[in-house]
Amino acid sequence: MNRRNFLKRTSLLAGATIIAGSVPLEGSSIKQLQDEVLHNKRILFVWGGWGGHEPEKCRDIFVPWLKKSGAEIIVSDSLDSYLDEEMMKTRDLIIQVWTMGNISGEQSQALLKAVKNGVGLAGWHGGLGDSFRQNTEYQFMVGGQWVAHPGGVIDYEVNITDREDPVTGGLDDFKMHSEQYYMHVDPNVKVLATTEFNGDHAEWIDGCVIPVAWKKYYGQGRVFYSSLGHVAADFNVPEALEIMKRGILWAAESRNGEKEKWIKPVY
Ligand SMILES: [Zn+2]
Repeated sequence: MNRRNFLKRTSLLAGATIIAGSVPLEGSSIKQLQDEVLHNKRILFVWGGWGGHEPEKCRDIFVPWLKKSGAEIIVSDSLDSYLDEEMMKTRDLIIQVWTMGNISGEQSQALLKAVKNGVGLAGWHGGLGDSFRQNTEYQFMVGGQWVAHPGGVIDYEVNITDREDPVTGGLDDFKMHSEQYYMHVDPNVKVLATTEFNGDHAEWIDGCVIPVAWKKYYGQGRVFYSSLGHVAADFNVPEALEIMKRGILWAAESRNGEKEKWIKPVY
């Protein structure tokens, strides 16, 4: 099978497998899909930053899964990895778990350039959405920035708003007991799931709806973000894990996948 046909088959499979019926959480079809997408994909997994978000434990959830699916993965605990230009050119995907750090101008330029040129980028919670507060170009790339989680760890619901997209297709609304991320979000990202706030901890946000998961482009690179994953145990919620895995699959196809019409403006 030539590459084009393979890719076509992969994207067909992605649609058929993921959208059909109820959540194929650990079914054989999702396993087949992830193996097809991730096999030989070259991934850089960068972890570090604030320890409260358990970057190490989260690494140990996702890295073994990626390896088992056949990805060739470099795991790094240093932002200096972004400076390795030759290595960066070979990557299909960067997964970053790095909350509240400082990125140097050089490191940041290298990361931005790689994604702009087609490397996918994926991450969750503060590891991607609250990484480098001083760096607005980084936030331009991600499409959002954490600003508050009123009440800390609370009960809340995640609502699936896009049931057509392969990342959230077939999933139902679900409950979380974690931080409910209130984010400032680029209104031109493609929102896949949202959450509604009540007024218990800040009465003026009663009824406010904020995106939880989205996809977007930065240059040629696919960017996927989910705000779920305050601690590693949050991924015990099957839907939270599933959304992240599917988002990773989508972003991993950054160099191969068809450019999607992703803009769904809210106004
Ligand atoms: Zn958190």
